[in-house]
Amino acid sequence: MRLEEKQKKLAQLRQEISKCQKCPLAKSRSRTVPGEGDPNAQIIFIGEAPGFNEDQQGIPFCGAAGKFLDELLESIEMKRQDVFIANTLKCRPPENRDPEPEEKAACQPYLDQQIEIIGPEIIITLGKHSTETFLPGVGGITKLRAKLFRRPGIRYIFPLYHPAAALHNGNLRDTLIQDFKKIPDVLKKIKAEAKPALEKEQNLTLF
Ligand code: SF4
Repeated sequence: MRLEEKQKKLAQLRQEISKCQKCPLAKSRSRTVPGEGDPNAQIIFIGEAPGFNEDQQGIPFCGAAGKFLDELLESIEMKRQDVFIANTLKCRPPENRDPEPEEKAACQPYLDQQIEIIGPEIIITLGKHSTETFLPGVGGITKLRAKLFRRPGIRYIFPLYHPAAALHNGNLRDTLIQDFKKIPDVLKKIKAEAKPALEKEQNLTLF
């Protein structure tokens, strides 16, 4: 798909999300947070849901966790404009509670469409909820982090800790910093594979 077409489709989706009433979060949100970034991004980062700052500004990862994410991107010589950043939910759950299954189900088609339009090489899930969405029943984030998974249609998934969880926990923070540094090599590895057969639904590859 050409860049102009991707931009147009993402803008249409953004417009649709801004009016969405498909789940109860429409009543409590200040603004929708559809996600943003490069329509041709090789990487989509997917977090859980907007928090207070995101809900106020309509921008994903714009609080303290977002600043940390920017630092992590800088550590691999990338900027947020080079990637696409989104969440599993486009509206903030009250008091930042966990997303409900019905809310995730209602919102999932928007994320699916974003992935289809952008066509990234890899999806990096940030934290437990996002990882469960793409790798249901495979295991917890502690077990899955920094391992590369392959799925039909989506291609590759690389789970990492959520920057918000790592922000105030020294061990998690150090782990996330080290895991993040693996991303360039993971991308290289993916590109080096010549059109891999996507034969298994969830094919764990220890990296
Ligand atoms: S969370 Fe998603 S499904 Fe629910 S109202 Fe917001 S955009 Fe719609």
